[in-house]
Parts: sequence; structure tokens; C-alpha cells
Amino acid sequence: MSSEMKEKCGVFGIFNHPQAADLTYYGLHALQHRGQESAGIAVSDGKRLKHHHGMGLVNQAFSRDILDKMDGNMAIGHVRYSTSGESLLKNAQPLVFNYSKGDLAVAHNGNLVNARIERDVLQQQGSIFQTTTDTEVIAHLIARSKKQRFEHAAPDILSRIDGSFALVIMTENQLLIALDRHGLRPLSLGKIGDDAIVASSETCAFNAVGAKFWRDVEPGEWILINENGIETGRFAKKEEMSLCSFEFVYFARPDSVIRGRSVLSIRKELGETLAKEHPVEADVVVAVPESSIPSALGYAHQLDIPYEMGLIKNPYAGRSFIEPTQELRELAVRLKLSAVEEIIEGKRVVLIDDSIVRGTTIKRIVKLIQDAGAKEVHVRISSPMVRNPCFYGVDMPTKEEMLANRHEQEQAMGETIGADSLAFLSTDGLLEAVNIDLAETNQHCIACFSGAYPTHLYLD
Ligand code: AMP
Ligand code: SF4
Repeated sequence: MSSEMKEKCGVFGIFNHPQAADLTYYGLHALQHRGQESAGIAVSDGKRLKHHHGMGLVNQAFSRDILDKMDGNMAIGHVRYSTSGESLLKNAQPLVFNYSKGDLAVAHNGNLVNARIERDVLQQQGSIFQTTTDTEVIAHLIARSKKQRFEHAAPDILSRIDGSFALVIMTENQLLIALDRHGLRPLSLGKIGDDAIVASSETCAFNAVGAKFWRDVEPGEWILINENGIETGRFAKKEEMSLCSFEFVYFARPDSVIRGRSVLSIRKELGETLAKEHPVEADVVVAVPESSIPSALGYAHQLDIPYEMGLIKNPYAGRSFIEPTQELRELAVRLKLSAVEEIIEGKRVVLIDDSIVRGTTIKRIVKLIQDAGAKEVHVRISSPMVRNPCFYGVDMPTKEEMLANRHEQEQAMGETIGADSLAFLSTDGLLEAVNIDLAETNQHCIACFSGAYPTHLYLD
């Protein structure tokens, strides 16, 4: 998979609100955890689109002056994430085009597994691509559709794309929202008052813009909103859902609700199950902040061990530089995290993290805890071993780089990261926790743990 295709992002859209761009800006702030590489907003005043993109955080990409020029009552926005992909402004979304039928803006969270194939076909037909994103394929398919009107063309092309996509697409006067047939990424709808409709990758953005949750977008569903009202339809038959389980483990914000389930309570449940599966005698439970705090609370509660803030995160230390030497790399982790000696010294510490991919992060943190005087460090991970790449928009290293593929046994992995013991949540434990209150049709993708991918991968 090429590096430019590795991204996990956040999308936001709003229809029929006089401060559409401002609210999109707030919505993107709430989705900032889903992407810090670039941010963009496209807005329409009913006649034409205006757009702005910038690199970095939402508040780095936008100023009051820029937002003041973005008048209109319909907007879409995007935050982009890419740890190893091309950090280029031209790849920032929403992608905006002017074509024979007017203006078009596309914001996409996910990854199309058949993008290469469709791109080749389109290029042979004469399409000239402006970006290296898979998202641009969607715009070209709409532009080349035999169906003349956007409201017919857009739903029509959705059956040609495969993989994961939570999409918001906008013309001068219409908003289209769609979710891939497997429902791999979260996408929800909300309302502000009676008239304005919002769409967001996560419900935490509804709180930020004063919207009330309305409903989730169904896998394989499209929703078209224009002056005539709301029309919905399907571009694919209802399939078994494969919602990304990693959203619950790590990506989503804890105050979001995905398919009726609170991310916070599921994370606590992951910690409780982990404690039942892998208890350990210890004096204190410490979380790797921030995403592991709920599961550490669950773990501590289950075993009646005190939870303490043994690691403090500096919220201002971003991923801002590449450390050239080992010594500086070791120091960089201390910029981001600091161990509280008073809590750790002389103690048997259970260190909870949400996942291990390469093992680099946890190895450094174990050392930090040991340097603070811990007697023992027992690492417990609130997800199973990551052994397989994700083809649905989540950045992962190669299989060879993954810690779980470099060792046969948990014990050897534990030794590599320098811990006294190491244990992972089982796949059954993960599924049990994410399935709370679920109707039986709801299923999850666990491909990065199990290797069973819910779609064809088009790797040949
Ligand atoms: P690693 O150092 O490769 O083992 O990274 C694992 C750590 O990064 C965990 O603490 C997670 O919180 C976080 N993480 C897991 N998956 C991802 C991802 N796809 N992108 C960025 N961070 C991740
Ligand atoms: Fe999520 Fe893993 Fe499936 Fe990717 S492979 S969609 S990260 S569960």
C-alpha cells in the first residue's frame, strides 16, 4: 500500500445554518484528535463554493479573518491525519473541483481498497489527477458519470468504490452524506433546532456545535439534502456491519457515542475484561495518558488496586520534530510524558496501554517508570496483538515491524520492551466488550488483530 493512502481523518458537514463555516470550524476542533496534519473547510452561499485549507491544527489553518470571508449556509470540513504519508497542502481536504456541472467539494474519512484500479481506468479515459489521494477518484467518477445531475450521479457511483468511506460531498446547493457498505468508519447525523442538519465522524462534535444527535448513517446508505428536503437511498444491499473495533480501543474520543455505545464505557469494560483475563498482584495501576485512562480505571476497579496518575502528559508537546539521535529520541519521550516518582517509587506497577504496534512507545515508557524507581512493571494491553496491516484508512507499519510478529511468545515480547510481564486482551474479550447492548446484526472489523478482512483487498 502506498504511503499516501494511509490516513485516518475526521469529516463534518452542515446544511442550512447561517454560520455554517464557523460551526464547521468548531466541529473540526472537536474532531482534532482524528487528524492534525491539515484542516480544510468548503462553504457555499448557494451560488458558488469558497474554500480554505491549511497545514497543522485547525486553529493554525484558520484565523478569524479567513472565517469572516467564508459566508454561506452550507459547509463541509475535514481534518487529515497521516503519520508517514505525504504532508502536502494539495492533499488537504475537502478536495474542491470545478467541473461541467458546477462546483464540487469532497471530504472523506477512510481508504478505498479499489482506488488504484478505478484510478487507472479513469486515467485511461483521460482524467488528470491533481492529488495523490484515493478521494479524488470519487470526484472523477461523479464528473464522468453518464447521469447528468449530481443528485443522480453521486449515489450512482458509490457502488463502484469499495473499502471504507465516511463521505460528505457538497455542491453549490446540495449535500450528500454516505457510508461504505460495511460501515467501517463511524458517521452520525445531528440537528440544530428544526432546520439545520449536521453530519460528523463522531458525536463529540455535536456537543461542540449545539446539535442534538439524530441518528447514525447506515452502512450502504446515502442521504441527499437540498431545498426539497431529505432523500435517502441505498447503493449497496444491507451487509453485515464491520465497524472498526480500533475506534473503541484508541481512535474515537471517549465522550463520543458510536452506534448507541459510549466509547468511555466500552474502554472501561475493556479494562475490566483485561483484569479478569490477566490479573496481577500490584500496588498501583497507571495509565499511558490519555486514551488508556478509562481502561486503566476499569482494570483498577475490577481488581481493587488503586489507580493513580503516575504519568503526566504535557499537552503542548506535539509530534513536531524527528529526533536525529537515540539520545534525543529517549529525551523526546520525557518531553511528552513525565513519571511521578512519589507514586511509582518502590511500587509494583501495572502499566495499561491501549495497543502495541511496533512496541517503541511502550518500551520507552517502561523505562521511564523503571527510572522513577518502580519495583516491578507489569504491562497490560487493552486490545489484542496487532499483527496485520489495516487497509481501511488506519496508519500501520509493515507486518515485519509489528512487535507481535517479531516474537512467538508474549514472554519474549515482554523481555523486548523490558517489562516484568506483558499480557494482551483476547479477541473474544475485545468482541465481548464492544458488543454490549448490540443487536446481533452489528459486527466489528478486527482484521488488524485477526487477519480476517471484511472486504476484498484488490492486492493483485
Ligand atoms: P507503537 O510504538 O508502534 O507500539 O505504537 C503504539 C502506540 O501508539 C499506542 O500507545 C497507541 O496509543 C498509539 N497508536 C496505536 N495505533 C496507532 C495508529 N494507527 N496511529 C497512531 N498511533 C497509534
Ligand atoms: Fe479498524 Fe483494524 Fe479493521 Fe483497520 S483493520 S478498520 S484498524 S479494526
